[in-house]
Amino acid sequence: MSFLARPRENYSQFGSDLKKVKGTLAFITSLREFLRDRITVEQAQEEIKRALDSREERFLELVHTQVYELPTSPYLRLLKLAGCEFSDLRAHVHSHGIEKTLERLAEEGVYLTSDEFKGKKEVRRGNCSFPVTPKDFECRDSLPGLLAQSSGTTNLPLRSFTPLDWLAVRTFSTGVFLSAHNLLTSCHAMYDAILPGGGGINNLLIYAKLGIRTDRWFARKIPVNSRLEGMYHYLMTYLLVASGKWYGPGFPEPKFVGVNDLRRIVHWATKKKRAGKTCCITTAASNAVRIARAAGKMGVSLDGTKFVASGEPLTESKREVIERVGGSATTRYAYGGGLNVGHGCANPFYTDEMHVNQHMLAVIPHPRPLSNGGPAIYPLLATTLYPFAPRVHLNVENGDYATLEERECGCALERVGLTLHVHHIRSYEKFASEGMNYFYGDLFELLEKDIPSEFGGGPGDYQLVEEEDGNGQTRLSLVVHPRVGELDEARVLVRLREALSKGSRGNRSMTRVWENAGTFRIKRQVPYASGRGKILPLHIPVGKA
Ligand SMILES: [Zn+2]
Repeated sequence: MSFLARPRENYSQFGSDLKKVKGTLAFITSLREFLRDRITVEQAQEEIKRALDSREERFLELVHTQVYELPTSPYLRLLKLAGCEFSDLRAHVHSHGIEKTLERLAEEGVYLTSDEFKGKKEVRRGNCSFPVTPKDFECRDSLPGLLAQSSGTTNLPLRSFTPLDWLAVRTFSTGVFLSAHNLLTSCHAMYDAILPGGGGINNLLIYAKLGIRTDRWFARKIPVNSRLEGMYHYLMTYLLVASGKWYGPGFPEPKFVGVNDLRRIVHWATKKKRAGKTCCITTAASNAVRIARAAGKMGVSLDGTKFVASGEPLTESKREVIERVGGSATTRYAYGGGLNVGHGCANPFYTDEMHVNQHMLAVIPHPRPLSNGGPAIYPLLATTLYPFAPRVHLNVENGDYATLEERECGCALERVGLTLHVHHIRSYEKFASEGMNYFYGDLFELLEKDIPSEFGGGPGDYQLVEEEDGNGQTRLSLVVHPRVGELDEARVLVRLREALSKGSRGNRSMTRVWENAGTFRIKRQVPYASGRGKILPLHIPVGKA
């Protein structure tokens, strides 16, 4: 698979990250305190309310110390370009609040696109341009924390460092979330990667801090870049497991489960059910679907099992597959190695409806819409509100857009004051075939619902892949899982063309260009998945994105 590629820059990157190892060793020592000092749901509720009360003052303090007092801060350059002094910012926050101030700043050019933040593109505002690197946003204090990396679905794996203090703050809303869904007394299992994947271990630590003893860690392996790195992550995983056992409520050892062996997870759930327990499985949304499919094949009901699906959008189609075997699902939204944006509402109106962690972050829609002649979309901009966030964000795009709204739902997350809801989170990844940028709205709707309803199959069976053929020609392939069976390929391609040309003039001309260039084709193979098991609707192999 393409994420196995070992780009050269990763070696040097690890070398420069070695100083973080020092922080990681301190992490083991601090872990004892972290795990012993448990948090009850009542404490978590109080902490969120307190954090919300001090939100504006904390934001101003942070911008003062992490931006205005730091001459090298890229955010400071943007603020200066916008002519915004700290006193202006403070006055605006006091009279209009944080979100309105951030929207105003974004209008004045104080934001970073996802590519700028990652150092892929220079920052350009008017006549001024300057480069930034991801290091510019790292936490300045040397804190105990955990080094991990994203699974690199469409981009090079992104290294991330999660301070333990940040995990402690994440525990507050996770506790209220689990309580809102009656999951505190469930029997828990994790199906996620070991290190360098951070998701599994972060969740185990957060659950342990809440006093939850996770029963099983069904593990996935993530490829590493070098032997040294592999040894480091192996050792770290076992030290963490041992610490969890000694100081925490108990910590399962990772047991590797292959993607074709998910019956073991189903067996675990049925055994617990027979013992009168309800189950909760935390995993990526595509994996939840795989487990539900395995149960379906075995003729087993997952009644009483709830999935906490993360890592990719929990779509209606995915939820339906889970519900067909009697299971249920809620969701969680995090990105960038631990920035946890929200947790699933317990009375959702939309499948992926969540409460934004407003005590940790400020999230706004970008006032400058992206459009390709079709309906405009507003990228999300995030701002961190704690000094020990993995990276300092001030109006940073994360590559997603979503609907943000205030709604009364009556669930426990609302009662602590988290009143902002977010749903329909989608990535605005662009196709770049034939040298033209192309944006298509909701690929999940097309590939999980529209095409399967006519041609068979379900979530995870269809995937668009942008790749080069042997002649260096970029082609767009529709990868179709062999299990879909016999297919009228010509008709599928017609449907695909029709769908992709919908919506705008730009899209129509783009699909014509592709058609003339013979860009479209169908490939019968298993769609590409990330190390965590995520299957995205558009796959751009590593190195291209
Ligand atoms: Zn709610």
